[in-house]
Amino acid sequence: MRSWRVATVVEVVEETPSAHSLVLDIPGWQGAVAGQHLDVRLTAPDGYQASRSYSLASGPREAPMITVQRVDDGEVSPYLVDGVEVGEQLEVLGPLGGYFVWHGGSAPVLLVGGGSGIVPLRSIWRARSAATPMRVFYSARGMDRVLYGREIEELDVQTVVHLTRERVDGYGYGRLDAAQVQAAITTPESDVYICGPTVFVESMAQAVLAAGVPAPQIRTERFG
Ligand SMILES: Cc1cc2nc3c(=O)[nH]c(=O)nc-3n(C[C@H](O)[C@H](O)[C@H](O)COP(=O)(O)OP(=O)(O)OC[C@H]3O[C@@H](n4cnc5c(N)ncnc54)[C@H](O)[C@@H]3O)c2cc1C
Repeated sequence: MRSWRVATVVEVVEETPSAHSLVLDIPGWQGAVAGQHLDVRLTAPDGYQASRSYSLASGPREAPMITVQRVDDGEVSPYLVDGVEVGEQLEVLGPLGGYFVWHGGSAPVLLVGGGSGIVPLRSIWRARSAATPMRVFYSARGMDRVLYGREIEELDVQTVVHLTRERVDGYGYGRLDAAQVQAAITTPESDVYICGPTVFVESMAQAVLAAGVPAPQIRTERFG
């Protein structure tokens, strides 16, 4: 929808010490396509406005939920993580985006997320039916930055979680490397979704291209 709406925060979930999910009640909400995002606009008492994009973490027919990772010197994210309580009203625009989206289907899907880049991938795995083979690769700095950890453990798809700065049993250590991601590509029909910081997205996209996945089947989203 192309006009701003006033959403009410109906639930706040502390995903990690530095990331909160906000479940929103948005008047007239009619669902979203997995992978879409909202723009959130804040207005200061003096009228100054700032808006940022936040991916929908919720499945297409679920109550809309965003997950915000605090960027310490940021203008908007510290307020959304530390300052927002249930009942707060936020201006939102969306759902937005027609490129980094998954419409369903039975072709194999590979999801590759770095940091808060896992957020839109959650909406994709929550939209999946058992007919879709899916694998999830996730790279986070440490245990205190892993989003949706329990949900990922319980997913009935292959998941690989790497911690880049901490050694923990059951998790990979260090950066995801190209060979690992390439080994997950079992068929050239795979659709691949890669989201996260720019450097992460570019290296993973190169790896997937080198494994023979045609460029039109690789969708990327950069969070900055
Ligand atoms: C389509 C889209 C979807 C997004 N979805 C999410 C999401 O689901 N969850 C989420 O937490 N963020 C998401 N982002 C990033 C988000 O829009 C903001 O950029 C982020 O919250 C920082 O905003 P800020 O106002 O706090 O920081 P700013 O004031 O904009 O930036 C402050 C400083 O932090 C740096 N910076 C900006 N963004 C990041 C970042 N992501 N990581 C590290 N450093 C950064 C800037 O270069 C600057 O130096 C998304 C971005 C896009 C484009």
